Amino acid sequence: MENLKELLEESNKIHLENHGNKVWFGRCIFLSWYCKLGTCKFCFRSTQKSRIHDEKTARRSLSSVLVETLLSKKLNWKIEFLTGGYGIFSVKELIDIMKKVSEVYGEKIWINLGAVEKQDLELFKPYLKGIVASIETVNPELHNKICPDKAIQPYEKMFSYSKDLKKSMTIVIGLGEKKEDFENLAEFIEKNKLERITFYALKPVKGTPYTKGPTTEDYVWWIAKTRIRFPKLQIITGTTYNRVAEIEKYNTKDEIYLLMKAGANAITKFPATKKFNTEAAKKIEAQIKKADRVFTSTLTKIPKVNWDKEIDSLSLDEKLKEQMKIQIKEYLHRMGKE
Ligand code: SF4
Repeated sequence: MENLKELLEESNKIHLENHGNKVWFGRCIFLSWYCKLGTCKFCFRSTQKSRIHDEKTARRSLSSVLVETLLSKKLNWKIEFLTGGYGIFSVKELIDIMKKVSEVYGEKIWINLGAVEKQDLELFKPYLKGIVASIETVNPELHNKICPDKAIQPYEKMFSYSKDLKKSMTIVIGLGEKKEDFENLAEFIEKNKLERITFYALKPVKGTPYTKGPTTEDYVWWIAKTRIRFPKLQIITGTTYNRVAEIEKYNTKDEIYLLMKAGANAITKFPATKKFNTEAAKKIEAQIKKADRVFTSTLTKIPKVNWDKEIDSLSLDEKLKEQMKIQIKEYLHRMGKE
């Protein structure tokens, strides 16, 4: 195996030269917990599909989506993308959600909603900064096996007509890929001119064939190799609560620190509202600091904000604003508890 220490020295140097020392928290905002496809072998949603008979019951309320958007803005979390609503919302409903989320956040947003058709993408565009393809794994045989109904080709087609939108992909480490597959990843990034990538460490889900995630060394190796090959690429790296909190069990001591050295621009996937200001959240912030990075978001401190006033200033209908005011109090109460 290559010497990881040397690899990280190189990736860290390249990262600092190209990106500086700032790191942020990326929040993906879920629209629902149902997926019409539901056949990817590792995915939580594939275990839920048979239990959900009415798709509409799996939708998240618009007010809760917008409250999370407002929290993201005020806690300096960058919205990584809107996701999880493929096959559940109509195009008209999605446009309405995107419009409102981008208004509350004050910026255009990214979406990760499957391979969007050309005519739909045109309708979404006024609210979009970029689009994301959930590729999961770049080994073609493995991909066919694990995601039998989610081909890669339609995503590449979507990239081909996305014009000036930014492009990104997600990949999961731990599905059975080999290090030789790195060349496939590099080719995909180059060919599609990606500006961003999100890595996840597989989180084994009960009811799927997977029982363990990747080692820290394997996970970090992919990120460092990517940083060295693509100095300018924005790299977002996922970490779950378990990987941070149960260090012994997951053998992930210093994983966040190593992700920084490997060249991560951001951390994502940590359940930031549920685990706000917990020991695990504090560990993340401490390890970022230990790696000489400056964390521009917060996972531990709620800023002083007049939330009702913020909500009143939005051009949403009154009923929606009232729902948001109730929900933000619930969120803040939960987040302030730890
Ligand atoms: S990975 Fe994506 S497409 Fe596959 S089942 Fe899960 S949510 Fe659906």
